[in-house]
Amino acid sequence: MKRARAAHSPRGAIAPALLRWYDRRKRDLPWRRKASPYRTLVSEFMLQQTVVAAVVPFFERFVARFADLPALAAASEDQVLAAWSGLGYYARARNLHRAACAVMDRHGGQIPSDEISLRALPGIGAYTAAAIAAIAFGRSTFALDGNAARVIARLQAVTAAIDRPETRNRLRDFGLAWVPARRPGDFVQAVMELGATVCLPRSPACDICPLASMCAAFQTGQTLRIPLKSARPQRRVVRIASVRMRRGGRVLLVRRKTGLLAGTWMLPSVVTVDGESAGAGARSAARDLGMMPARMTPVGTIRHLFTHRDVTAEVFDATVSSTRAGIARGRGDVSTHDASAPDLLWADELRLDGVAVSSFLRKQLALKRDKSSEPP
Ligand code: SF4
Repeated sequence: MKRARAAHSPRGAIAPALLRWYDRRKRDLPWRRKASPYRTLVSEFMLQQTVVAAVVPFFERFVARFADLPALAAASEDQVLAAWSGLGYYARARNLHRAACAVMDRHGGQIPSDEISLRALPGIGAYTAAAIAAIAFGRSTFALDGNAARVIARLQAVTAAIDRPETRNRLRDFGLAWVPARRPGDFVQAVMELGATVCLPRSPACDICPLASMCAAFQTGQTLRIPLKSARPQRRVVRIASVRMRRGGRVLLVRRKTGLLAGTWMLPSVVTVDGESAGAGARSAARDLGMMPARMTPVGTIRHLFTHRDVTAEVFDATVSSTRAGIARGRGDVSTHDASAPDLLWADELRLDGVAVSSFLRKQLALKRDKSSEPP
């Protein structure tokens, strides 16, 4: 067996090898093509819990809609959530909007370049602050995401669970020690890029890796064993009943006020408990809003995995005979402004582009319609 050399390799050798590889192999991504602190800020928020391939089209649409930080800060939260629709984890969109407003208020519209000021902005933690400081402003710091953690754990043959805070601190310290004086931002991106394209979780392509000669896991045959993770808690299983009430070609939506999807529009729904039928649940979801559904028809079931929840939704179509929610005049109009009452919206299903909706709702709406439940 070859001798592990990573821990003993000159720390200065990693950055030059990696930057040479990065210059030849880096992916052509829209936030790299036309870099600016604002575009870095938006991309880093979007990448917090979503992979690059999924982010690219959303990023391009988002910066076309809000070209710069003042435009984003001037928008309403509803408009920002609508532009974020389908990307998930809507707390990020709300925080990005608040961060843009805070930059306008506290920093005269200039995104700060130091990690302490960045971390004081909504939604920016240690990772995002370091990534923005390094990538947008060339600060000498290191941002440890999941890809970087895996690469460093393998390079150094770290066998402690990489999701433990003390291990992550150790991995960040290794990364920080390797940051070169020139191009710190490119180095940070290069480590993440290597993890995303070469040092893959299940099948690292060590034969084409520029760091293979310095990688302790590769040298000792441990690439598939490292990194180690703690056992994950199971997702909570939740069953809900949802009702699609239609009137005048529109479907009734209710705005969520709390939780992961806060601010987005959902079908009226209730969590069903053991022994309660989904039909009874859907009926009570309608009644809670003052609706008297004349007829309820089951149209199907969808399953959606959130980070901590495994949700199964049984969906019903209903005709509505009486209502206390008026029909909105246009897209995005909300039918009540009473803060204690639920926000209701009769939305045109075919024109949801300007409405903040989740992919979960889109799945529910895509279930085949029960034609007999439609009002004449
Ligand atoms: S040699 Fe293999 S395990 Fe080591 S960093 Fe490169 S791809 Fe990852």
